[in-house]
Amino acid sequence: MIQLNNGVYEIGGIPVSQLAEKYDTPIYIYDTGIMERQYNLLKDAFSGTNTRIKFACKALNNINVLKFFKKIGVELDTVSIQEVWTGIRAGFDPKKILYTPNCVSMEEIELAVKEGVQINIDNISILEQFGHKFGSTVPVCIRINPHIMAGGNEKISTGHIDSKFGISIYQMRHLERVVKSEKIRVNGLHMHTGSDILDVDVFLRAAEILFEAAEHFPDLEFLDFGSGFKVPYKPDDYFTDVKELGAQLTEAFKVFCKKYGRELELWFEPGKFLVSQSGTFLAKVNVIKQTTATVFVGVDSGLNHLIRPMLYNSYHHLVNVSNPEGKQRLYTVVGYICETDTFGWDRKLSEVREGDIIAFQNAGAYGFTMSSNYNSRFRPAEVLVHKGKDYLIRKRENMDDLLRNQVEVEMGG
Ligand SMILES: *Cc1c(COP(=O)(O)O)cnc(C)c1O
Repeated sequence: MIQLNNGVYEIGGIPVSQLAEKYDTPIYIYDTGIMERQYNLLKDAFSGTNTRIKFACKALNNINVLKFFKKIGVELDTVSIQEVWTGIRAGFDPKKILYTPNCVSMEEIELAVKEGVQINIDNISILEQFGHKFGSTVPVCIRINPHIMAGGNEKISTGHIDSKFGISIYQMRHLERVVKSEKIRVNGLHMHTGSDILDVDVFLRAAEILFEAAEHFPDLEFLDFGSGFKVPYKPDDYFTDVKELGAQLTEAFKVFCKKYGRELELWFEPGKFLVSQSGTFLAKVNVIKQTTATVFVGVDSGLNHLIRPMLYNSYHHLVNVSNPEGKQRLYTVVGYICETDTFGWDRKLSEVREGDIIAFQNAGAYGFTMSSNYNSRFRPAEVLVHKGKDYLIRKRENMDDLLRNQVEVEMGG
């Protein structure tokens, strides 16, 4: 997150120009102060319950970020065995790691069991195999699809009827039969409806469905409400009112626990909410290109480093940090990749000159983790700003990285 301080753009108190000069561009910079602020917002909103916050590390998987979250009391949500291993390497107690895969093999799930993490299963066929293998010896959480649509963007919504995620709430009878016959110990129920909670009521409706489902399972220790907290992307954007959500869900959860007969834990697994705003992506302007239709600003990056705008039309607010006082003009900001590679159409930026640094806001989540080497470009470096100091936490790649696993063979004939 960038802040204008006495005419100078800063990240966590350090001038952006200084960071760009020291580490070069393109570069991802994360501010731990914002991560902690976001965690505290959630923690305070749900302080009336026994709440666990599990960071969905697919949003940002640098091991230093994981260690930072561990230090301030955040737990971990993972979607692959590799994320589980990274979490363990970062020092998380396996019991604090939730493993929520989709369409992975039984073999991978067995590897996760071996590590001692909390398993979350979202498929009846896998659940049957799991019960057959482990019976009641390994507790399991079940991912339910309540079929509540969260948000308006189909590509990031996982609760609709055609979704591949979760076990449909309409399969409850089948689910119960499998659990009973295989003597499976269900210790949690889970839902994750997508990535854009527009209003608290929709979320509460999904919660009520989970509360009803919970009555079929007597051994529960927790309910996991996934994520979907929306953060503001534009200066006047709407976002999930976590205070309001906290107040209402806490009430509903207390009523549920009373009815259920026991105090359960309430789990969340935010990705974006914890790290999106903490991250800024910096790119340098290579060229200004005037065409008949617009003025293009071409930067030293592309969809290989930040794919969200092209992948799901997401908006990243852009700021020319090199010219804070400049006149506002209209630009189209594009990347250098040989594909249509647009970061933003018709953006108002203070006058852009070649060599200026453009800051992409909200770049902490699904930025670096979705980056690639397309066009044989090196992936960027990552820097963490913590208490006024900057730390290089991932080196920029080089030619050796690019060729690392290529095998040069002598072909006969
Ligand atoms: C991706 C994911 C999350 C995090 O979603 P955000 O929108 O980044 O908060 C949480 N839970 C599961 C199971 C996920 O797959």
